[in-house]
Amino acid sequence: MNNPKYSIIPKPQKYDVLDGTYTVTSETAVLCIPEFIKAGNYLSGFLKTKKGANNGAIKFNKDSTLKSEAYKLKITPDGITVSASDKNGAFYGAVTLKIMIMQAKSANGVAVLNCAYIYDYPKFSYRGGMMDEARHFFGIDAVKSALDNMALLKLNKFHWHLCDDQGYRIESEVFPLLNEISSNRKYELLGGCNNLAFPELQKGGEEYYHYYKKDEIREIVEYASNLCIDIIPEIDLPGHTVAILAAYPELSCLKGEYEVFCENGITKDVLCAGQDETYVFVEKLLTEVCELFPYKHFHMGGDEASKGHKIWEKECPVCQQKMKDLGLEKGKDLQAYFNNQVNEMLKKLGKTSIEWNDGIGENTDSNIIGHYWILRSPAWVKREHNKRKFIVSPCPTLYFDFSYSRVPLKKVYNFNVAKSGFVNEKNVLGVEFESWAEWIDTYDAWEFSVYPRIFALAEVAWTEDKFKNYKDFYKRLDFFKMYMKSKNINYSRIEKKIWFKVKNKSVYHLGNRGAEYKYNEKIKMTK
Ligand SMILES: [Zn+2]
Repeated sequence: MNNPKYSIIPKPQKYDVLDGTYTVTSETAVLCIPEFIKAGNYLSGFLKTKKGANNGAIKFNKDSTLKSEAYKLKITPDGITVSASDKNGAFYGAVTLKIMIMQAKSANGVAVLNCAYIYDYPKFSYRGGMMDEARHFFGIDAVKSALDNMALLKLNKFHWHLCDDQGYRIESEVFPLLNEISSNRKYELLGGCNNLAFPELQKGGEEYYHYYKKDEIREIVEYASNLCIDIIPEIDLPGHTVAILAAYPELSCLKGEYEVFCENGITKDVLCAGQDETYVFVEKLLTEVCELFPYKHFHMGGDEASKGHKIWEKECPVCQQKMKDLGLEKGKDLQAYFNNQVNEMLKKLGKTSIEWNDGIGENTDSNIIGHYWILRSPAWVKREHNKRKFIVSPCPTLYFDFSYSRVPLKKVYNFNVAKSGFVNEKNVLGVEFESWAEWIDTYDAWEFSVYPRIFALAEVAWTEDKFKNYKDFYKRLDFFKMYMKSKNINYSRIEKKIWFKVKNKSVYHLGNRGAEYKYNEKIKMTK
């Protein structure tokens, strides 16, 4: 038994080495049933298999006894079989095989694979990553590149944050001012990851005018679908909506003049939850957006609206009247009512809603999935943790916009849902990393923030805790560092808290993102 194991991330649940080898070339046929065509296309695209070639075979078979997204991969001297009960399982079998072939391949393109038996399935059904293109816009090629790498790590949910105080990024034919006005801010904050002088950010730059055309979104949706990734758009409501109010101030409580927000942070203004016009607008908007995204989940935001609650309670007579009519005491109760209404609209559109947990109140519908990011009171946890399903993204542990000094690679790897005490694990659908883009101003900076922490996240999402081991993971990461280099991915060479000397005396804690980014550029020059 001399065959070594290949480095696979996330680690398969069961991986046995078998005797012998099997050779894969561009002549090796990939045979699959129509249901597993995405897996077949993914693998034959990678192998560049010639049409009609039939020398040996990689076979994809259906095995209905396997659970959802699970696969069995058997490499023997006679051939390779991948079995699964659904298209995602077959796809992940193809992904694992691709990673093995990448490691076995020699310069002439022939891969002599060590025989093996792998039985694998995900710990969580929801394995996600978020990209924020409201704050900074990266474009279609960046999104596709991110999706490619998510697929390689068996992540299956791409949460796309396309709407915030700083911009609205989806073409709208129903509300054209959402592009004319809301997609355009006067300036951006120069700095972020490109400025060592953080936190002294400066105003400047050209006007920042970006949004995705509907056809571009359709192209990305199709691209993701071929990688078995669902796209979950987020329209953040009722807070984080100043870009919308800049175009449609009649949706606000105070009917003031608003501008698309150019600074970082949270504005106090929210949609008026007291007037019917707001609900009519939201329903039309959601109907238009949902048409673009043929997936089950939809993120309705709901976070950081508490400053707006004060406006509802104290300044807006319409909201005050609404609260009186509904018998509600507090602004947070009106938010629960508001998001429940949005939930009903989304249900009619065939969607299941997700809401950030700080927006979830006592009366929030229990069929809304909570997105846990911020610690709540023990009373809140006790009330909620058995009431609804959750996605877990604790800040800062799974917030990849934080510095590596603050959130080292190992901290991400060691995150354990069961031990986190946030929510009852049996109600957790899965985990997701966030990458808020106030500071991440280019796709290069996005890559720096996300890689290699995404590898640790993938293993948290996929591999059973009893099979996880940081040392072993770190060894397997070596292959993926080579892969990232070959793909020109700007991964961080900084993985943990670092200190360095300034003027040979003081020791400076390198705890900010811009400085780390610059330092990383320096390391790359020498390594
Ligand atoms: Zn109001």
